[in-house]
Amino acid sequence: MFDTLSDRLTSVLQNLRGRGRLSEADVDATAREIRIALLEADVALPVVRTFIAAVKERAKGAEVSGALNPAQQVVKIVNEELVKILGGETRRLNLAKNPPSVIMLAGLQGSGKTTLAGKLARWLTTQGHTPLLVACDLQRPNAVNQLQVVGERAGVPTYAPEPGNGVGDPVDVARRSIDEAKRAQHDIVIIDTAGRLGVDEEMMRQAANIREATQPDEVLFVVDAMIGQDAVNTAEAFRDGVGFTGVVLTKLDGDARGGAALSVREVTGQPILFASNGEKLEDFDAFHPDRMASRILG
Ligand code: GDP
Repeated sequence: MFDTLSDRLTSVLQNLRGRGRLSEADVDATAREIRIALLEADVALPVVRTFIAAVKERAKGAEVSGALNPAQQVVKIVNEELVKILGGETRRLNLAKNPPSVIMLAGLQGSGKTTLAGKLARWLTTQGHTPLLVACDLQRPNAVNQLQVVGERAGVPTYAPEPGNGVGDPVDVARRSIDEAKRAQHDIVIIDTAGRLGVDEEMMRQAANIREATQPDEVLFVVDAMIGQDAVNTAEAFRDGVGFTGVVLTKLDGDARGGAALSVREVTGQPILFASNGEKLEDFDAFHPDRMASRILG
């Protein structure tokens, strides 16, 4: 992910090396090239506009300071603006003062939600938490089983409707899981909800009902970074239909252009909390805007 964007930005910024002073025309030309690189990487247009305007304004106004030559200063500005669109400070998970905390996952089918549930559960255990996974995707025949398998690998139990008790009501399962967490002393419940291949009203309503019934401390929107501009459209649909407090980017190990991932924060106004970059449970970490910006700038 981001390899092409990273190469393009690095070469644009390298062209400035060795310059004594940058004229306005130099800044404009550089801004134009950065704009093309971002658009080719699939970054959403409004985000590109905001970004370029900020870089231009700051680069033109920048005093040539003692330690940095003009080229280094532009690199610094681009880096800082990248950090800004990625959310600025690292945003930590909000947990309840009185456990159990409730973390609800929402997203399209195939976004990597179930895998993410396992990754997050495992990660939380490494931080000393005792999570409980909750299977609220009761529509897809294999979904409960898949979550149980992921849970076993993560060493975390899964709460699901008893087999033979019918399909069950996801809202009811979510509600009861909180009592179970209290009883068995789990300090966090992670609720996996149903996804569809596309945005779907019934799915949105169900997720919104689960949210209403469980009042989660976090609703995390899980999005596949490989789906390009659709990531932004899907994010907007979930924001309006369910609402969320944070974003998880998955499949950052893929070789897509990745610009949509760069746009989600700016477009939805919600921070990216975690990033997933592989199929294994360990391929997961908290999202740090500054580290991601440094990676993109090579
Ligand atoms: P769900 O339908 O949203 O629950 O998605 P799943 O968790 O079942 O994931 C769908 C597919 O994506 C599975 O084949 C996962 O192994 C794969 N997957 C999930 N996360 C990642 C990731 O970060 N990188 C890669 N390469 N594959 C992933």
